[in-house]
Amino acid sequence: MQELSSKNRSKRLETLQKESFELLIIGGGITGAGIALDAASRGIKTALVEKNDFASGTSSRSTKLIHGGLRYLGQGEIGLVQEVGKERAIVYNNAPHLVVPEKMVLPLVKGGTYGKISTSIGLTIYDLLASVKKEEKKSMLSKKEIIDMEPLLNKDLIKSGCVYSEYRTDDARLTIEILKTATKHNALPINYIEITDLIYKKGKVCGAKYIDRLTDICGRISAKHTINASGPWVDHIRKKDNSLKGKRIHHTKGVHLVVNKDKLPVNHALYFDAFDGRMIFAIPRGKITYFGTTDTNYNEALESPNTSHDDVIYLLKAINTMFPSHSINKEDISSSWAGIRPLIHQKGKDPSEISRKDEIFESNSGLLSIAGGKLTGYRKMAKRIIDKLSIALSKDGKELLPCQTESIPLGQKIEKVSEFIGKVHNLIATKNLHPYTAEYLVRTYGIDAMNIARLSIETKNSNNHISLGIAELHHCMEKESIHKLTDFFVQRTGRLYFDIESINELIDPICEEMGHMLKWDSDRKINEKKEVLKLVESVTNFP
Ligand code: FAD
Repeated sequence: MQELSSKNRSKRLETLQKESFELLIIGGGITGAGIALDAASRGIKTALVEKNDFASGTSSRSTKLIHGGLRYLGQGEIGLVQEVGKERAIVYNNAPHLVVPEKMVLPLVKGGTYGKISTSIGLTIYDLLASVKKEEKKSMLSKKEIIDMEPLLNKDLIKSGCVYSEYRTDDARLTIEILKTATKHNALPINYIEITDLIYKKGKVCGAKYIDRLTDICGRISAKHTINASGPWVDHIRKKDNSLKGKRIHHTKGVHLVVNKDKLPVNHALYFDAFDGRMIFAIPRGKITYFGTTDTNYNEALESPNTSHDDVIYLLKAINTMFPSHSINKEDISSSWAGIRPLIHQKGKDPSEISRKDEIFESNSGLLSIAGGKLTGYRKMAKRIIDKLSIALSKDGKELLPCQTESIPLGQKIEKVSEFIGKVHNLIATKNLHPYTAEYLVRTYGIDAMNIARLSIETKNSNNHISLGIAELHHCMEKESIHKLTDFFVQRTGRLYFDIESINELIDPICEEMGHMLKWDSDRKINEKKEVLKLVESVTNFP
């Protein structure tokens, strides 16, 4: 079964129960997805389970940047800058539709984090270490030049500035694309399967018990090795394994706020000083601009981190200080998201000071847990843990291929993305859709954007937005294993964050169509819609 389809879930589940695996991965965020692809492409028989939808944890709630590691340079972590720079180039090469080079504007302010000379030297070193391409190398700007680029910046604060290179992505889409690719390499990822307990033989983990969150049916998985890639929940699984000793996960919350483009019409992504010495991003994307993040200790429920009133006040103060002419109010916020960083605790350090390095913990039972790290480093993290596992596998007589992921494209590679966007645009040109639609389709679905566009034209609905939504839904059902209405509106299309107004128009027809395909009764349809509306409420209300 090399397709991650909604329709073949029960067959995939049957395989999960009946067969025995060499590797079980717990967690379907970017970390687990990366491990699944690395393992499967080296010939390991791999299953991955995710208790909710894929990427529904931290991996849909980041700043969505494939970092070059500028911040690590400030912390003296030279090796890390080199590594993430290389990783960034690899992921861009493998998924050019999903990773967009983005000029990042850094205004230098009086008394700010970055001084002019140190920034110039630092960025020169950064360009070298991160192997930044010639055309993307940093350039220093005078006050006039930076204000010309970004006229909304606070002229009283800015001394000068610079432009350097970052790459933007979509974290949830990257995760899905990796899982689809892993499936093509014979991995078996299944969403809505929660691990409730581990199973042991002679003190060693040899599988796990689960509950299917869609049916409440329980089952068992047999696996020689298990990797715990459950992000913020890593210690929950370690606790089940009685191995929660030594280093612990330190949870911090990061919030982003979203406003319509006209409320903050910046021309470029910006990385700027907040009033308290922290740094904040403001990133234009399609119809909106988002900004963040906060970084505060978090001790509440991991399932549903929310944006609080205090988060909003903090971010509004930061943004309104830097862009005073476009004062943004609470009422202007169209959406938001809050994510939990699964960091490795370091005694006495504030949230923003804790290292973002990943670590692997191995317990006496053989359970491997991985935490810390970043979206950007997912491939290297996966390689490290599978290299480690290969030692145990070789004792079982299994010889692995070397790591393959450096050159595995994520989806069918589009060589000339802008040209392809142009072709999709031409196809839907008469449909009177928003000018960003073609780019949205290509950045979201890659090569499949063309089929979706064609299908939307064939779909007989007088409303073009609905035709397009239904075409996307059919694609997600066929190839992306969606089972709830929220999967479609949040993890697959990002509409909850980037196009929240469209949900009003789409919720009924999409629910009807999905209900028809999955044979939902009227109660189920009502509940599915309620769940979406509850999410809309949670990202727009700030207690
Ligand atoms: P998750 O995405 O949370 O995945 C773990 C999964 O395990 C979850 O989906 C969960 O449901 C599942 N799970 C838990 N328990 C079980 C169980 N019992 N059974 C089955 N499944 C289970 N990194 C960057 O590189 N660039 C950025 O711009 C960036 N910005 C960030 C901004 C913020 C605000 C935050 C919070 C993080 C940011 N990061 C960034 C870091 C990055 O997002 C995380 O490192 C990464 O997403 C963590 O992924 P993960 O797979 O480990 O965790």
